[in-house]
Amino acid sequence: MTKTVIIGGGISGLAAAYSLQQTAGECADFLLLESSPRLGGKITSDAGDGFLVEGGPDSFLTQKSATLDLCRTLGLGDQLMGSNSTATPSTYVYSNGRLHPMPEGMMLMAPTMILPILRSKLISWPAKLRMGLEVFVRRAPKGIDESLAGFVRRRLGSELLEKIAGPLMAGIHAGDPERLSLRSTFPMFADMEQANGSLVLGMMRRRKAQAGKPAASKQPSMFTTLSGGLQQLPDALVRHLDPQRIRVNCRVRSIASEGPQYRIALDDGSSILADNVVFTTPAYVTAGIVQELDPVLAERLRSIRYVSTATVSLGFRRSELTCPLNGFGFIVPASESRRINACSWSSTKFNHRAPDDCVLLRVFVGGALAENLAEQDEASLVSLARNELREIMGITATPVLARAYSWRRSNPQYEVGHSKLLEEIDDGANSHPGLYLAGAAYRGSGIPDCIQSSVNTVLKLTQRDKLQHKANNLRHQPTLIPIPAAS
Ligand SMILES: Cc1cc2nc3c(=O)[nH]c(=O)nc-3n(C[C@H](O)[C@H](O)[C@H](O)COP(=O)(O)OP(=O)(O)OC[C@H]3O[C@@H](n4cnc5c(N)ncnc54)[C@H](O)[C@@H]3O)c2cc1C
Repeated sequence: MTKTVIIGGGISGLAAAYSLQQTAGECADFLLLESSPRLGGKITSDAGDGFLVEGGPDSFLTQKSATLDLCRTLGLGDQLMGSNSTATPSTYVYSNGRLHPMPEGMMLMAPTMILPILRSKLISWPAKLRMGLEVFVRRAPKGIDESLAGFVRRRLGSELLEKIAGPLMAGIHAGDPERLSLRSTFPMFADMEQANGSLVLGMMRRRKAQAGKPAASKQPSMFTTLSGGLQQLPDALVRHLDPQRIRVNCRVRSIASEGPQYRIALDDGSSILADNVVFTTPAYVTAGIVQELDPVLAERLRSIRYVSTATVSLGFRRSELTCPLNGFGFIVPASESRRINACSWSSTKFNHRAPDDCVLLRVFVGGALAENLAEQDEASLVSLARNELREIMGITATPVLARAYSWRRSNPQYEVGHSKLLEEIDDGANSHPGLYLAGAAYRGSGIPDCIQSSVNTVLKLTQRDKLQHKANNLRHQPTLIPIPAAS
């Protein structure tokens, strides 16, 4: 069995370790190295005084099954908790000084129903007319890499981009819609355009097709979390792994090849020899580690831009708020020139997030268009969030809980050209047998994508191991020398 070193102890690294252990069983020979004292990376939940605060992600999408499957395998099935469905409308948009309900039936940028759009006060009549013309807009040439903003403006008009698609879709990536690649962030819309010639028609056909199907038995909620906080997932992974195979406070500095193996140098001056190395660190960290091994690969990895974000959680006594919190929260278009991007009404969205007499709100700051705001200290972030909530929601009460998390260079940006860059990165990485790249930087930054990328990586790694094993066996098999037949 070959030895594998996994660098990074976030969800990607832990999922890779678990997958390797499951695949290779008892003989799995791996070591996971994490630079910080804790495991879980960006997943961090903090419980206290009846509140449950998520510092990073608060839920995962269930359309991709990787997280659900992993939770169930780890025995967390009974902890899975969908978002509440009682709140209608679910999201608001801050526009012209007030919160407007998002028109019902919006699937990110694409409308699935006409009447709610017509009735909406959020969108002007010229913009509604422009959306109606979407069915006449010609398809883009197949395979072009268009920006998210370019696509929405071309198909549905500028106002929909500014008020809905921009803050909602670019917000998921904390990105700038003018720079994000549609193909690399929301490929389903590019595919829908190609297949139907129109998003509106595509959505309607989809609705019709779904209406014809028998109702699936208890579909999981689109946004799902764990009742005790998302941190339960990395914690469960750690419990299932051999503690001897995990090292925290262990920063990897560099990597060099040594024959067919790799010498991994650590910050404390020691080093480890391994046959396989799985990187799950942010691309710019991986770049620093592989700099000497392959400067060209390092440069390509560095061209994946990262932006800083912050979350601020504020708990209030329910009796001190006047707004009803009848939804999952609101988004703020960049054109409003406010200092926050969105606010989740966490205790409406999920149960068990606040004591019964309190509510929990979570404010998002920073991202590609306001990075400097996210890089402030905790007190400044809390004060910023309180001021914004006072002006937007009229909240003047003093919070009973206030916590801010600043995430520097945390969100990878899949910008126009990302898929081409990935091809070049893959070429570079593939030229080093046994070296693998997984995690949020490449093909999806959501938790399910990170888990899937680790599972795929372990599959590739074990297949290569098997092939090598076969080749070694063949090499060591005695050569059969034909005995000449007796004449
Ligand atoms: C504020 C925020 C909210 C989010 N919300 C959601 C959400 O609701 N749903 C969702 O699905 N996704 C969400 N995401 C995205 C998701 O959380 C991340 O993409 C995912 O957790 C990344 O996991 P990872 O293991 O790839 O990377 P990380 O969690 O960044 O883990 C990398 C690890 O590598 C370690 N490391 C760094 N350098 C070294 C070194 N030299 N040597 C050893 N170890 C090193 C780090 O300490 C870290 O633990 C959110 C992200 C942020 C920042």
